[in-house]
Amino acid sequence: MDVLVSLCKRRGFIFQSSEIYGGTGAAWDYGPLGVELKNNIKRAWWRDNIHLRPDMVGLDASILMHPQVWKASGHLDHFTDPMVDCKACQHRFRADKVEEQSWIHYCPATKGNKFEVPAGEPCKHCNVRRSLCPDCGKGELTTPRQFNLMFKTFMGPVEEDAAVTYLRPETAQGIFVNFDNVLQSMRLKLPFGIAQIGKAFRNEITPGNFIFRTREFEQMEMQFFVKPGTENEWFETWRAERMKWVEGLGIRSEKLRWHQHGKDELAHYAADAYDIQYEFPFGWQEFEGIHNRTDFDLTNHQKHAGKKLDYLDPKTNERFIPYVVETSAGADRTTLVVLCDAYREEQVRGEEAAEGGDQRVVLKLKPSLAPLKAAVFPLVNKDGMPELAHRIHDDLRRHFNVFYDDGGSIGRRYRRQDEAGTPYGITIDGQSTQDQTVTVRDRDTLKQDRVAAGKLVEYLTQKLAG
Ligand code: ATP
Repeated sequence: MDVLVSLCKRRGFIFQSSEIYGGTGAAWDYGPLGVELKNNIKRAWWRDNIHLRPDMVGLDASILMHPQVWKASGHLDHFTDPMVDCKACQHRFRADKVEEQSWIHYCPATKGNKFEVPAGEPCKHCNVRRSLCPDCGKGELTTPRQFNLMFKTFMGPVEEDAAVTYLRPETAQGIFVNFDNVLQSMRLKLPFGIAQIGKAFRNEITPGNFIFRTREFEQMEMQFFVKPGTENEWFETWRAERMKWVEGLGIRSEKLRWHQHGKDELAHYAADAYDIQYEFPFGWQEFEGIHNRTDFDLTNHQKHAGKKLDYLDPKTNERFIPYVVETSAGADRTTLVVLCDAYREEQVRGEEAAEGGDQRVVLKLKPSLAPLKAAVFPLVNKDGMPELAHRIHDDLRRHFNVFYDDGGSIGRRYRRQDEAGTPYGITIDGQSTQDQTVTVRDRDTLKQDRVAAGKLVEYLTQKLAG
């Protein structure tokens, strides 16, 4: 993981939030390339889920909502994680995650030597299993207490109990409280979905693993409203759809699997839930959940708000509260999946090795997700090459996000763009100024094509569509 974190900083993908003050460890900032990558993922999600479906509409609800929302949704009473404290170093852990962390152990079989034992394994010297703090290895852990994950804040100028509200811990509630507005204004018929992308906040006990678990993050959520009795069928349909979408991002299928929640794992609103997990460098973990939320949320909002949130079936004249199948993905965790899956260290040979060294780090991002689609390089900064290169760059940037780089050897420039995941490198050389052709290097095959400068837009459009 460290190599990816360092590449993300080096190439302007992701920085620690407030790094000059030492960082927070719980929030991260997306740099110039990171924001492009995350936006490309969010755009793909929006297009595929909303624009390409006849039964879906979008929404952008506010982060601050009426505090009663969180009472009705069950988050005030149930949105908790079990927390334990180390009695020696006072570090705090999520009780259900302690077993999934490696742990520090002062082994009695080796005269008290200190070892880091991998998660879930006993010490290989004394065979003892974890019983003490994973960080200091000395303190006992307290019995678990429930800790509410919502960020409390005050709405308005007065800091009193009546003004308390919360930063939303999920975007879903904005959809539920707008159910009737959207239904009536868009004259929708079941089944249909409402989707949105937005920030959510959770005061996580143990944030960590880079952008995997943070206290501020973005969700891409969709609530699909269906007639009661059809929810299981829709649940399976959405499971299949979501896995297909994730694979469509170019993620290797052997790194993906399903995990069904056991009874003790289910969220307070869920009757059934499946996670899509990815094999991260720190193990298999969820990055998207598909949940059968039944009529839990609409029923509770109807009760607490005293407003009807049912649906009149125009065919049967029946009134009922729809059931909901939810798909809930983290935009940041999906970005992490994309980055982890694309990261490769490779040996190269021949001319490439002579120019840039025989090792390379490359992000094999699907071209449609790559922050930069191409980079333009004048081979040398003279003999008319920069002028032609600038003209080509100006022409291409009207169609694609492209980069101009004239610093250092051509081999180094290729390597920098490999690390940025840029699919094509366009070099303007001595021949270019004679016959207006350029070389186009393919990031993955390392093959170079000679292409007429005037045909570059057409050439790249075709390549990037594939
Ligand atoms: P976890 O068990 O990892 O805490 P969760 O089951 O609580 O996750 P959901 O409530 O189902 O997660 O949220 C849906 C999605 O939102 C997750 O699959 C994940 O991608 C994202 N997500 C949730 N919590 C965080 C977080 N703290 N940081 C980044 N992304 C998150």
